[in-house]
Amino acid sequence: MLYNYELIKVEPKLNKKKVFFTILIVLIILALSIYGALEFAKQQHQKQLAIEQEKQAQIEEQQRQEEERLKEEAKQAEKEARIAMHTNPFTEEQMQAIENIYQAQETKRVFLTFDDGPTQAVTPYILDLLKQEKIKATFFVLGNRAKANPELIQREFEEGHYIANHGYSHKYSQIYQNNQTVLDEYNYTEQCIQEALQNPNYHSKVFRFPGGSQGGYYHSIKKVAKDFLRQNGIVSLDWNSLSKDAEGVNTKEALLQNVIDTIGQKQSVVILMHDAADKILTYETLPDVIQYLRNNGYEFKNLYDIL
Ligand SMILES: [Zn+2]
Repeated sequence: MLYNYELIKVEPKLNKKKVFFTILIVLIILALSIYGALEFAKQQHQKQLAIEQEKQAQIEEQQRQEEERLKEEAKQAEKEARIAMHTNPFTEEQMQAIENIYQAQETKRVFLTFDDGPTQAVTPYILDLLKQEKIKATFFVLGNRAKANPELIQREFEEGHYIANHGYSHKYSQIYQNNQTVLDEYNYTEQCIQEALQNPNYHSKVFRFPGGSQGGYYHSIKKVAKDFLRQNGIVSLDWNSLSKDAEGVNTKEALLQNVIDTIGQKQSVVILMHDAADKILTYETLPDVIQYLRNNGYEFKNLYDIL
């Protein structure tokens, strides 16, 4: 019997398929590996980036804290210097610096001064605005108002404004009886400021005569009292510009115009304004006054800057 053995041929088709699938699997594995590797690298990179960002944020935070600390230290030092200035009597030079305040300087300068406060109705708004504008002013406070609003006196001092003395009663007939009554009003007001600041060593050493140090019915008494105060180490300061906010002017435009007119061509200006309870219009005009002064090249100063 003849057996016809046929050779079992390996189907080439099957081989091709195998090869194809093998290659496909290899390719898939390869692709997955590459993808995985790339993903891993990406994740590592992101992790690294996040670490670096965190480090950077930490550095920035440390810098911010350091700046904050230095700022606070400078503020504290500045405050201590002011406290020391108020503890000691004025030197002759310091008194003259105030007395010569209107003398022209190399640069134009302006002193904003507010009388008759502090009051809840107006002073906080003025303080907010001055803070926003980074301007330090001088407040000639009344003893009776200081007594009623100690927290506003504290705020004025904390925010770098100069607290000066405008007497206690603002009643001319009471203050201007003689030398001694002027000094008494000054002293009593100093005491009110001291109590408000809880600092018995605070001496403003600057007085503004209610109604100004010159002219009017009490001119001769004021003239003598001015010298008497100076002998006691107290300098008096008037103004050379005013908005006339205490003279019934009742529009912002007119108040501003009065300031502009009374400044004229002056190089060193002391502006009289008021923060009494009925002077909200003074506050409302203040941004325009500040704008005018900035536009005309004036630098804002307060008394500390010249002492
Ligand atoms: Zn006044």
